[in-house]
Amino acid sequence: MDNCLFCKIINGEITAKKVYENEHIIAFNDIDPKAPIHILVIPKKHIRSINELNSSDINLAGEIILAAKKIAKDQGVDSKGFRVVFNTNDDGGQTVYHIHMHIMGGRQMQWPPG
Ligand code: 5GP
Ligand code: ZN
Repeated sequence: MDNCLFCKIINGEITAKKVYENEHIIAFNDIDPKAPIHILVIPKKHIRSINELNSSDINLAGEIILAAKKIAKDQGVDSKGFRVVFNTNDDGGQTVYHIHMHIMGGRQMQWPPG
């Protein structure tokens, strides 16, 4: 989609440090990490947020979650623990409107988040 930052990362217009990619998704380091490990997982298909996910996207949603398992293991934070977050719309703190899952780890997370 034109003018979508993450679509530009997908098509290579903007560079990012990729940590994982398959046919449907890519994962890359967040440019402004909030934890020692802070990775974003996005579908290659432009979907604005969880609100725009459809039942036809169920496999894609599952792939994104399973990528968290693989990436957490690859990054060595699976057993100590990590957090996944989908910020959604304004109150959720979403700033980039291409659905993405944050994976954060490498430090103790606080609850509740701010
Ligand atoms: P949100 O606030 O929408 O949940 O998360 C958007 C995330 O994208 C933020 O954590 C922000 O640091 C990250 N981000 C914004 N612009 C870029 C960029 O150009 N490259 C990368 N790698 N991450 C970005
Ligand atoms: Zn997009």
